[in-house]
Amino acid sequence: MARFGRLWAAAAGWASAGLDLVLPPRCTMCGDELQSSGDPLACDACVMALSRDGDRCGACGAPAAVTGCPACRRQRRRWDGIVVLGSYADELRSAVLRAKRPAGSAVAATLATLLVHRHRSTLAAWMPEAVVPVPMHWLRRIGRGASAADELARGVAAGLGLPCRRLLRRSRATVMQNTLPVGDRRRNVRGAFRSRGRLAGLRILLVDDVTTTGSTLEACAEAAVSAGAAAVYAAVVARADAAGSD
Ligand SMILES: [Zn+2]
Ligand SMILES: [Zn+2]
Repeated sequence: MARFGRLWAAAAGWASAGLDLVLPPRCTMCGDELQSSGDPLACDACVMALSRDGDRCGACGAPAAVTGCPACRRQRRRWDGIVVLGSYADELRSAVLRAKRPAGSAVAATLATLLVHRHRSTLAAWMPEAVVPVPMHWLRRIGRGASAADELARGVAAGLGLPCRRLLRRSRATVMQNTLPVGDRRRNVRGAFRSRGRLAGLRILLVDDVTTTGSTLEACAEAAVSAGAAAVYAAVVARADAAGSD
């Protein structure tokens, strides 16, 4: 767990801001008392349960196939690469659902830290200059407080030592993707995002909690590229490999 030290410290720094920290520290996932040093946010067992994903296609995020990627053959993506912490199931699914709640900051910090830790070399090779949360429409934000994507993006930015910038906005409210059939999701979010000004030459890393069809990331990438972004990558906590929520 020592190897997590710096990452945990970066994530814990902002996750604990304004919170009443009670000792001894407890795992943000299971609540067990933590034995490890270095300001960890989760116990070894929870880290293992949340980090046991296999290899994935670096272009679309689908579980890796032995030869080629059938998903990439069917559809070329507008983003330049994607990393995923794991499949939207079991412990990871419960963790994502907890991160979405108003008090989910600490869980989001843990997930962001695990995401950065797992893919640190890929993320570094992409050389992103800003971490950008997939935006939630302001009307919905009022209804539920900070979005999970915002919290995760802050954690990923802290772990990578990059600025977290809300460079995209939703130009119109959309129906929740997870309430729509998979086939309608692309149309629902097409053109729903705009950049806040020019992104000339910028390399950005989009962050979201869940992806299914990739339509939301695709629409964000399209908005960023039309605003001049030089490269758009994505880091997503969970991918609904068998289709579910987006
Ligand atoms: Zn735990
Ligand atoms: Zn692929």
